[in-house]
Amino acid sequence: MYVLMSDQLDGRCLCGNVTYRCDAEPAMTLVCHCEDCQRQTSSTFSILVAVPRTALHVDGDTLATHITVGTDTGEERRRQFCSKCGSPIVSLLAEHPDLAFIKAGTLNDRSWLSPTLEIWCDSAQPWLAPPANTQRLARGLSG
Ligand SMILES: [Zn+2]
Ligand SMILES: [Zn+2]
Repeated sequence: MYVLMSDQLDGRCLCGNVTYRCDAEPAMTLVCHCEDCQRQTSSTFSILVAVPRTALHVDGDTLATHITVGTDTGEERRRQFCSKCGSPIVSLLAEHPDLAFIKAGTLNDRSWLSPTLEIWCDSAQPWLAPPANTQRLARGLSG
């Protein structure tokens, strides 16, 4: 059986001023195709690893927050990023107070990532072939 080592949930921003570590195992690994994630990442989707919020420790004096509002939920998303280099680090969703959603492109080890869920497939890029074995939701986690 594959065992996730805790140091696989360490990460940093592009400039290295913001670092984080997580003491717990991921609750879920997912892909978000929402338009806000596409803009924030300047890519086609976010890769997100949900972890218990209390187990995530983020350090760095350049950590900043941009708040967006969920399209369906009307709830706040605290999108935390490094204000020095611009890397997205973690999103905190008001309706999931126990979870933090790590922007998994900032993990030091990304080789083990295997998303099992895709959300906001309604706004997925049409040229992107869906990976096998994911559950696909047309819109967000909360409907
Ligand atoms: Zn940075
Ligand atoms: Zn999103």
